[in-house]
Amino acid sequence: MLLNLRTHYTSQIDPSVMNGSEVKLAGWVHEVRDLGGICFVVLRDRDGRAQVTLVKKKTDAKLLETAKKLVRESVITVTATVKTEPKAPGGYELIPMEIKLLNEAESPLPMDTTGKVEAELDTRLDSRFMDLRRDKTTAIFKIRHETLRAVRNYLIDKGFIDVTSPKVVATATEGGTSLFPITYFDREAFLNQSPQLFKQILMAGGLDRVFEIGPIFRAEEHDTRKHLNEATSIDIEASFCDHFDVMAILENMISYVYSQVKEKAARSLEVLGIDLQVPEVPFPKITYDEALKIVNSHGEESLKWGDDLSTLSENTVGAYVFKELGASHYFIIDWPTEIKPFYAMPYEDRPEISKSFDMMHRTMELSSGAQRIHIHDMLKKRIESQGLNPDGFDFYLKAFRYGMPPHAGWGVGCERLVMTMLGVENIRDVVLFPRDRRRLSP
Ligand code: ATP
Ligand code: MN
Repeated sequence: MLLNLRTHYTSQIDPSVMNGSEVKLAGWVHEVRDLGGICFVVLRDRDGRAQVTLVKKKTDAKLLETAKKLVRESVITVTATVKTEPKAPGGYELIPMEIKLLNEAESPLPMDTTGKVEAELDTRLDSRFMDLRRDKTTAIFKIRHETLRAVRNYLIDKGFIDVTSPKVVATATEGGTSLFPITYFDREAFLNQSPQLFKQILMAGGLDRVFEIGPIFRAEEHDTRKHLNEATSIDIEASFCDHFDVMAILENMISYVYSQVKEKAARSLEVLGIDLQVPEVPFPKITYDEALKIVNSHGEESLKWGDDLSTLSENTVGAYVFKELGASHYFIIDWPTEIKPFYAMPYEDRPEISKSFDMMHRTMELSSGAQRIHIHDMLKKRIESQGLNPDGFDFYLKAFRYGMPPHAGWGVGCERLVMTMLGVENIRDVVLFPRDRRRLSP
């Protein structure tokens, strides 16, 4: 820490014990209000704001001159004495000895940071650095940080090992439709759409329980409020487990994440005006068949057995479960084998359905998971019957031939987890630099 530039963040100043202390703060000029006899400079840092008060009669003329000339959003340091002031933000004001301009901002600014004018999402994303200076944007990313911290803590505590799988791969995980091809020397390669195949191989490696938090790439062309072309996936795989075991890990993790965010990001939740309700465990489980019945009895659309749930039908079922059971999160289990990926384990007695699940928020899918097929020949047949060429899966299938334990796992979209937690409408709001159909920069 450059102690000569900062001794405290605004949030570290406690006026009840620091009245009269000398501090040095560093940050941005949020506002300058010159009222003639008195001038206020509001300094803003990552955690909040501090009011610097300059009384004309008492302040050195040069210092006052510097303060008055400050341009909004310039970077400054302020060396000052803390003075208790119940009317000021944070309950204190700063009486400055020195104000130093480190870097002046140009004007006009590319967007407003005061929150007085609500800028369009595109404008905000074009100047994301500026947008991040707004309280509400900072709050979202502090909450995302606490979410991921809680996920890691939870999984590590449950014995999961943190791993990293390659993002440049030779084969599609689930078929070639939604892949970004890249040039890898003189060969074609792809950006990985999921760590699925690799985390399963790690089960054959005996790591037993692994998790990965990393990017997934999906070349989906659609432009929706819940899809990105580069997203962050929280993935686990666990040996000697079935789908019920990993559903229990998932619901407990979600509930833990909510309670940690509530505790550790209380201030950020307040900035966003959110009273977070921690979802109760266990989450209700309904079968795919029951979900279809709910959709078909609500009449907005009619689905046949074997159809995937559309966004509209997800909303119908979510609203129904919320109304009838009061649950914001629930599982849809026992999906038709045909509409789940080849690696989902079919039930022995009813192979047309699989030991698979989706974990849903009232408004959208948050996670998909399953017990996996761990039997080589069965897996190879499933790959073929989904129209894929098993040759491309040699490196994967090989791991199933020399002692693969039964295993299960899931993947949760980090952005969807955060957006549903905060009631954010557009997924782009919870990623720093979203990648979508139109946006590749910044
Ligand atoms: P959907 O049907 O909602 O597009 P999916 O079933 O294709 O999702 P999965 O392959 O099951 O997605 O991926 C597991 C999780 O990863 C999803 O439940 C979701 O939370 C997240 N996810 C998948 N694709 C995207 C994406 N394009 N953008 C953001 N999150 C995604
Ligand atoms: Mn899914």
